[in-house]
Amino acid sequence: MESYTDLIAQRRAAIDERLERALARAGRRIDEVTVVAVSKTVGTDEVIAAIQAGYRVFGENRPQELVRKMTDLSRYDDLPAVRFDMIGNLQTNKINAVLGRAALIHSIGSLHLAQAVSSRAQRRIDAGELEGPVNVLLEVNVSGEESKSGFSPDEVRRTAEELMELSGISVHGLMTMAPRGDKDAARKTFSGLRKLRDELEVSLGKRLPELSCGMSEDFEVACEEGSTIVRLGRVVFDPSFALQ
Ligand SMILES: *Cc1c(COP(=O)(O)O)cnc(C)c1O
Repeated sequence: MESYTDLIAQRRAAIDERLERALARAGRRIDEVTVVAVSKTVGTDEVIAAIQAGYRVFGENRPQELVRKMTDLSRYDDLPAVRFDMIGNLQTNKINAVLGRAALIHSIGSLHLAQAVSSRAQRRIDAGELEGPVNVLLEVNVSGEESKSGFSPDEVRRTAEELMELSGISVHGLMTMAPRGDKDAARKTFSGLRKLRDELEVSLGKRLPELSCGMSEDFEVACEEGSTIVRLGRVVFDPSFALQ
């Protein structure tokens, strides 16, 4: 019988091929994009299967789950090093749980949250418990859908300087989610994110290299539009999710 690891490995090969083709269309190389395997719907065993299939970066949208899976994995001493990113809505009372654990927080969606993360991180840095500022991305609601969280593009423009001055965080780029089931709307969202990033780089005089965009249904479009981090859940882990 085929193991879950074999299945994930076969899916990974197919995903890599699609990534490579999409990137080639934009004149880009596969090493320009990091795949975050979004493990929010699976358990630690499935994460281990994914590690065996070659994934090294995982994403969780709930702090408790991120902590639980990292703790589970720390009990194995024969696994390669992996990283966990926080990709979902972060409440201020859960910030401390992810500090020092999440390698990158993708979902800083307001000035208030940025300030809260920064002040808690700075306290930990001062206490010698954290090596340096927390790596973050700013989540932007580019498509303007009411159901989506994050800064509006104008809010980012208005608060960018202030965000860059927060000593406990280090802003590496932008993140967004596209409307579901509409490739053209997705493309507009991703190119809008890239243009906003380009504009901020000029106005701030600072590089913002990372663009976290693209999920199971739209990662190829995202790669054509400049994504540097794709967040893939179902296409990685769900055997019933169509591979093409
Ligand atoms: C669940 C989730 C994903 C992955 O979604 P899929 O469509 O399963 O690939 C990506 N980003 C965020 C923020 C998520 O919550």
